[in-house]
Amino acid sequence: MIGLHLARALVQAQYRVALVTGETTFWPHQPHLSHRPALLAAIARMGVEVMEADERGGIAAIETGASGLPARRVLFRDGSDVYGDLVLTCMGLAPSLEFMMGSGADIERGLLVSPSLRTSDPNIYAAGDVCQIWTPEAHRYRFYYGYKNVRAMGAIAALNMTGGSEPFLSTQDEELRINHEGMLDSPFWEYE
Ligand SMILES: Cc1cc2nc3c(=O)[nH]c(=O)nc-3n(C[C@H](O)[C@H](O)[C@H](O)COP(=O)(O)OP(=O)(O)OC[C@H]3O[C@@H](n4cnc5c(N)ncnc54)[C@H](O)[C@@H]3O)c2cc1C
Repeated sequence: MIGLHLARALVQAQYRVALVTGETTFWPHQPHLSHRPALLAAIARMGVEVMEADERGGIAAIETGASGLPARRVLFRDGSDVYGDLVLTCMGLAPSLEFMMGSGADIERGLLVSPSLRTSDPNIYAAGDVCQIWTPEAHRYRFYYGYKNVRAMGAIAALNMTGGSEPFLSTQDEELRINHEGMLDSPFWEYE
């Protein structure tokens, strides 16, 4: 959301804005591949130049620009490039887990927990962004983004560590949409 606001403001101020896309462009959303062209088209309608990195073999390097040219150069593996005054790299979040090292609880990118939010140590439960929760439908551990999920996890973990057996079930709508103005809209974004 913040990135889109920034892009919109820069376009309005007559700057050229290019978005180099990748697998996690819509993170934390994971739109179906068939939905992706429409979502990218919505970004292009904002006046942002969309460049699919995969179509250029991926990003090879982000370098200092040459003399007389903008300060940064993004070089693609097919030899093409794009110059810019500024390159903003965006990536997903990784929870801070150093304090759990040596605890014995299983960790992948987050603390691995069962649907009841219990870690591999039966005496340790977890809630929040730190959790990677076993999700039987997806057959994998996954993160659940957003404050509504995190708040629900706190209640479930408290219940289960005091003898309950409630599974965490996300009620958060996760679909990234295009609104009636043709702009991207996420159920994670809330405006006052
Ligand atoms: C830029 C940004 C925008 C977001 N926008 C949205 C949004 O629009 N809508 C939405 O639903 N969600 C949004 N989120 C996600 C939401 O903020 C998180 O899901 C939520 O804050 C997670 O809560 P938490 O309690 O698990 O972790 P946090 O809120 O991260 O709290 C963890 C706390 O633990 C502290 N800590 C870490 N390590 C230690 C340690 N060793 N000892 C003591 N303290 C420690 C940290 O300093 C921090 O204060 C956004 C997140 C970010 C980063």
